[in-house]
Amino acid sequence: MAEQVDVLVVGGASAGYAAAIAARHAGAERVLVLEKAPRDQVGGNCRFSLMGFRFAHGGTDDIMSLLTDAKRAEHATTTVRPYPVEEFRSDLMQVTEGRIDTDLAETLVTDSRDAIAWMTELGHRWDFFHGRVEQDGTAHYNPGTVLAPDGGGLALVERWISMGDDLDVELRCDSRVAGLIGDHRAVTGAVVDGPDGRYEIEAGSVILASGGFQASPERRARYLKTNADLMKVRGSRHNTGEVLDMAIGLGAATSGQWQGAHASPVDIDAPDMEMDNHVNRYGYPFGITVDRNAKRFFDEGERHRTYTYAKTGWAVLAQQGGVAYQIYDQKAKERFPSAYAAAPVVEADTIRDLAAKIGLDPDALQATVAEFNASIDTSVEYDPTIEDGRGTKGLTPVKTNWARAIDEAPFMAYGVTGGITFSFGGLKVNRSSQVLNTNGDPIDGLFANGDIVGMFYHNYPSCSGMTRNVVFGGRAGAAAAGIS
Ligand SMILES: Cc1cc2nc3c(=O)[nH]c(=O)nc-3n(C[C@H](O)[C@H](O)[C@H](O)COP(=O)(O)OP(=O)(O)OC[C@H]3O[C@@H](n4cnc5c(N)ncnc54)[C@H](O)[C@@H]3O)c2cc1C
Repeated sequence: MAEQVDVLVVGGASAGYAAAIAARHAGAERVLVLEKAPRDQVGGNCRFSLMGFRFAHGGTDDIMSLLTDAKRAEHATTTVRPYPVEEFRSDLMQVTEGRIDTDLAETLVTDSRDAIAWMTELGHRWDFFHGRVEQDGTAHYNPGTVLAPDGGGLALVERWISMGDDLDVELRCDSRVAGLIGDHRAVTGAVVDGPDGRYEIEAGSVILASGGFQASPERRARYLKTNADLMKVRGSRHNTGEVLDMAIGLGAATSGQWQGAHASPVDIDAPDMEMDNHVNRYGYPFGITVDRNAKRFFDEGERHRTYTYAKTGWAVLAQQGGVAYQIYDQKAKERFPSAYAAAPVVEADTIRDLAAKIGLDPDALQATVAEFNASIDTSVEYDPTIEDGRGTKGLTPVKTNWARAIDEAPFMAYGVTGGITFSFGGLKVNRSSQVLNTNGDPIDGLFANGDIVGMFYHNYPSCSGMTRNVVFGGRAGAAAAGIS
């Protein structure tokens, strides 16, 4: 007879564990998490980042109430503007160009603060996320993205696993789900390729949390833009999309943008897979970015980078050779994200010498910088703590915010390309995280959470993914426990 569990979770990272813990709390007795990776590679994409969480909140006091006394004391001079539900909703609508499922968006924004409270009650601990701007003795944060788990993404996943251990949630590694048992009306279990061979598990409910398809070159080529199979992958090598295909094969409906994905600027020499934050190249709002012809090609200061970085990787990949060069002067250095501290940079005392060092035409780069410098509207004051409106006039493409002359040597350049983080196309779910079939009906016993769910279009407001995992993980776990 096949092994039986109440709730079977596919994918042992943040989306899977939020659901598994919620299922246990909701009364499911036997909860099993199947994870394809070996134990020393567990954690999915979460392993590779500090993992900021975007959530609606009431400002400094509200944020401080989530911290330990020690952290509060450490950050006594920090100030955070409130981030109301309305602003989170409007950010989601703006970056997805109004295409996001409004039911899911509403659930995410209205439940976001409670999700953070739930995690804190469970024993998760918080620290301030990177991206702060020091001004007049005060630390300012982008209000949407203030906190990250203490110790970063890997520490977060290990805390989830240890909470699971305490609740007798079993984590079974080296266990690849190779099939789903059921049809477009109901799912009753899964086929597993474990270390000792193939076997079946029967489950009251199955929660799919196996991430996107971004680590599969074949699926990237199938769904994304030309040459996407050649992209560098920022996260886990294990997110290859086969479980997504299995659900679609049963008749699951899809959602999100299938040609879309989160892709951000990374160092030109970054590894092909599994990068950490040191190769992020996110200083571009405070300089200019040029192509191989030394021409600018996008608005580097369109908005705060948390609203632009996930599409900027695509802008770079669309250039000749899929590469570009970020050009800065010394003034920009104070604005570099902390990861730049360890980043190899090309430096020169003149723009012409800088161009020669990175293989660009010196005359062309000199002309681009001169034209940029001359176009800045200096009547507007520069202010890095807000979108300051200090832009260019009569320049194409425009730079909307934080335009400052590139005139203080030594000048600096970083070569960049685009790295994919996660795919946007995925399964269609309802507010309870039930997977819908192509008739629009919930598939009995089948839930999904995390990057396997199709939610985003065109772009992504940074740090929404981790919050989504907890909001919908809580719902999936509770609903899945009810069915078993
Ligand atoms: C470098 C980097 C930085 C990031 N920074 C942030 C941030 O600051 N804030 C934020 O919100 N998001 C961030 N993200 C995105 C975030 O990591 C993802 O949105 C999130 O991890 C998705 O969670 P998940 O559990 O759905 O997927 P994952 O964390 O990728 O986990 C999926 C799991 O499923 C397993 N799996 C896959 N196939 C199978 C199978 N067939 N059988 C069994 N198991 C399977 C995988 O091994 C993996 O463990 C970042 C991502 C990267 C790569």
